[in-house]
Amino acid sequence: MINPNDRLLVISTSTIHGFSFLEYIKDEIKEFIQSDEIIFVPYARPSGISYDDYTQNVKDALQTVGISVKGLHTFENKKEAILHAKAIFIGGGNTFLLLKTLYELGLIEELRSVVHNGTPYIGTSAGSNLTGLTIGTTNDMPIVYPPSFDALQFLPFNINPHYLDPDPNSTHKGETRETRINEFHKFNHQVVVGLREGSWLRVENGVVELKGKLSARIFRQNEQPIEFESGILEEKVYRI
Ligand code: ASP
Repeated sequence: MINPNDRLLVISTSTIHGFSFLEYIKDEIKEFIQSDEIIFVPYARPSGISYDDYTQNVKDALQTVGISVKGLHTFENKKEAILHAKAIFIGGGNTFLLLKTLYELGLIEELRSVVHNGTPYIGTSAGSNLTGLTIGTTNDMPIVYPPSFDALQFLPFNINPHYLDPDPNSTHKGETRETRINEFHKFNHQVVVGLREGSWLRVENGVVELKGKLSARIFRQNEQPIEFESGILEEKVYRI
């Protein structure tokens, strides 16, 4: 079901408590891409940051492991840049803005095609949401309106990044994350993988592996959620 050529790092978050931007994951990124160059896609613009500033942050973080970074926004011909990229990294921010921009630039099909030809894809957060079927389980507000919620669809399930457990001592009465995902399942069938901060999926040869310190919470429609500790996620868990 997953294209065996696809190589993905589906990372919940770029920053974990006590570490600088990408610090905890940069060695994994270096080993994963097996090269020294990344095209960075800054279109999710976290906190409204500019494309240049966002790309600079990534440059600063990855130069320490010998990776050079170019922002996709700096290329006149973005399709060509994607086609010739050694590796692609799509950063987090607002998922609606990210997907809308990629549709508007006409890059969705290029991204699918290069990844199916083996170009390594790294996503953090919003960039990870795009690896799933739809962006219907993002935590973001719909600040803009993409032409479709369909994502890149490398994975036959959805991602919920920054998955958050309810705080038993909280007096807050808003929906928990689990409640929101249950609402999603009233209208949608696909499995949702809740990735806690500091966890990521590594996908190679059609196999999905959960890595990092924390378990993932997996939501199947009309079933009790599953806590998956680590290791290979069997297809029967995410197949519907
Ligand atoms: N806003 C998140 C990010 O950092 C995405 C999400 O929570 O769905 O990219």
